[in-house]
Order: sequence, then C-alpha cells, then structure tokens
Amino acid sequence: MKFESNNFLIEYDEKDELLINEITKNLESISKPILNFFEIKKLSKKLNIIIYHDLQDFINFRTKNGKYPQRYKSWNVASAEMGNVHILSLELYKQADNHHNCDFNDYLKTITHEFVHVCHEEILLNKNIMPALIMEGIATQLAKQPYYINHIDCTAEELTKNFYQIKNCYRYAHTIMGYMLKNKSHNEILKILREPHKVDVDSLIKETNNFLKETEPVQIKEK
Ligand SMILES: [Zn+2]
Repeated sequence: MKFESNNFLIEYDEKDELLINEITKNLESISKPILNFFEIKKLSKKLNIIIYHDLQDFINFRTKNGKYPQRYKSWNVASAEMGNVHILSLELYKQADNHHNCDFNDYLKTITHEFVHVCHEEILLNKNIMPALIMEGIATQLAKQPYYINHIDCTAEELTKNFYQIKNCYRYAHTIMGYMLKNKSHNEILKILREPHKVDVDSLIKETNNFLKETEPVQIKEK
C-alpha cells in the first residue's frame, strides 16, 4: 500500500495502517525544523519511506544493493540512501539486536534519525565522503536520541576508520556533536556538516573531553 502527501511517499503493508497515521503526523512536525536547521527549503525529491516486513529482504537490500554493505550489522534497523529511508516494520524493529526494549516512540526517533541523514546528504559538498562520526552525531542529536556518555574513550583513528566496530560508537558521536552544538555557531556547524571529512577528530575528542570534565556528569537513563 502507498501513502502519499506533498513531501512524503510511504510504502507499507496493510498491517501498518494504524501506524502510518502516527508516522506521517510525526514526519510533518519534525521535518520543518530539521529542514530549517540544514537551511534547505525543500528536499530535491519527495522522501520515500519503505517499510520492510521480511527481514531477509532488508538484509538483501543492505548487503547487496545498499551503498554501505560493509556497514551492515545485526542491530541495523534502518538506513537512508539516495533520499530514501528503508526501515524494518515495528515488529521486526523490536526483535533486532539492541532494540528489545524499544517502543513506538523510539521507532519514530529512528525515522527522524534517517530523515536527518537524507537532509545531511543534500548539503554535502562531496556526496561520496560521509564520515560516520559526524553523520551519526548530527542524526542522533536532531532525533533527540538519548545517547550521552561522560567520556570519549577511543582514538581518532578508531572513530575515523572503524566507527561501527567500536562499542559506544553512537554515544561517542552523539556526545561529540552535542559538544559542538553547544560551543560552535550555527554557521560553523553547517560548514562542518557540508565538509565533514575536514574535521580534525583528534582535537575534537580532546575538546569534548575537556568540556565534559567541566560539566556536571549526567546519569544515563537505561530502559
Ligand atoms: Zn544513522
């Protein structure tokens, strides 16, 4: 089945009918502020969301047709590629590794996260270079996913070369971007987001850790 509005096209299964209402309502409310953040008037093409009810179809897409097959992990629940968002159905999402405690609100945040990736890709100056650290940092921040951590405990090389292999990679990306959002102007942030490969990750880790030392430790709420 298909749902289509001015800005979105969602391909889904009959079973998702009740969810589609909530998903579109959420998209309508989050899309404007996120587009504004990236200073995008309108996406170059309508956002297409494909909801998968067959895990194997999703894995095939990620490993065979996807842009980043090497990034596929058993905890992957969604991806954004070429302006399209691919996501597991809510049922499969909750069965994926690391997602057993997730609820519908987390599912909506994941869709927001992927929407941020789509917007980010639009402003990238070189579409072939998208460092995971900055990409996941801005997506988790704008989607308000609670991935804060009190200390960045890995090297710049690990974050640059083996991002998805690192335990806590999303927490590191989220916290480093959180530091940047608090300490850099919007123009500086946009400049970084347009050319994220130019960032000096080593200095960023040091700056973030210094900043974290001076701020109150925040308790991470685990569900
Ligand atoms: Zn992501």
